[in-house]
Amino acid sequence: TTADLIDEEHRICVCVRARPLNKKELTMKDLDVITIPSKDVVMVHEPKQKVDLTRYLENQTFRFDYAFDDSTDNDMVYRFTARPLVETIFERGMATCFAYGQTGSGKTHTMGGDFSGKNQDCSKGVYALAARDVFLMLKKPNYKKLDLNVFATFFEIYSGKLFKSKLRVLEDGKQQVQVVGLQERDVKCTEDVLKLIEVGNSCRTSGQTSANAHSSRSHAVFQIILRRRGKMHGKFSLIDLAGNERGADTSSADRQTRLEGAEINKSLLALKECIRALGRNKPHTPFRASKLTQVLRDSFIGENSRTCMIATISPGMASCENTLNTLRYANRVKEF
Ligand code: ADP
Ligand code: MG
Repeated sequence: TTADLIDEEHRICVCVRARPLNKKELTMKDLDVITIPSKDVVMVHEPKQKVDLTRYLENQTFRFDYAFDDSTDNDMVYRFTARPLVETIFERGMATCFAYGQTGSGKTHTMGGDFSGKNQDCSKGVYALAARDVFLMLKKPNYKKLDLNVFATFFEIYSGKLFKSKLRVLEDGKQQVQVVGLQERDVKCTEDVLKLIEVGNSCRTSGQTSANAHSSRSHAVFQIILRRRGKMHGKFSLIDLAGNERGADTSSADRQTRLEGAEINKSLLALKECIRALGRNKPHTPFRASKLTQVLRDSFIGENSRTCMIATISPGMASCENTLNTLRYANRVKEF
């Protein structure tokens, strides 16, 4: 029925966010090939050449729930993406929000906040903004009387394994995934959460010669869990995914890089299928296909599960191919 269709459509929100050209791109005189003519349309103008060498622009148009241009700040992105999902977890639901895109396109900027230069401010990221609203919501009379406790955790999935420390994923009889060995913290306020994010982020980059090289190959998972008398009431998972261009590393000369590439590819494909299954209310969700989807399993099943994907894109001509891949992937997530 129409009512069902609307309902299903509302379970999945897919948005795109373009960042401004950065210093490096400006120095290289890279061109901005993205336009966002209206609040839900993004266009890619790809420079091409005919056989007779005449040049032309190939224009491709994509439509999403929202398209955010390079003047949109995190607050605004948050308001239309993760913000509506905060309520879901108070209503005993499961929510997920993913940042998907090429390395350097703005995933961490969106989710974690500003980590450029000496600026290490995570208070402006979607993680922190969601945490802030969870604590605000907690004060509302309706929810206050439920006597909920808030927990938060931050971990990483790297090369198909969970980090840090030795962790295992177990399924209990009630089809709930338990991540054993993870430090789930009891958090009382937004400040507690910010500390956790900071620690999580420093763990993410420590011991690496190149911070970006590591973070581009790992999925970072931040979760806010509501419990009532020890039982899960709702859970919000916010994920800064591995760079999608890494999925193409499967033909690299380096064996380790190849294996990681294959793993990333597998997890991003599984993720797409799981979200699609959620939208169609399909009974069989292929969450077993990767560690990422296994960990998020309980978020893809259940009546009251909602998800949001923020596809981040680099505006430069040099990134055109990756940008188109990102937009096609995001399109498929939404396609029924
Ligand atoms: P990713 O996590 O996808 O690899 P980052 O979030 O680290 O990418 O972004 C790469 C760089 O671009 C960072 O220096 C970041 O501060 C900057 N950046 C990303 N998005 C924006 C934006 N919307 N506005 C301004 N700068 C941005
Ligand atoms: Mg990043």
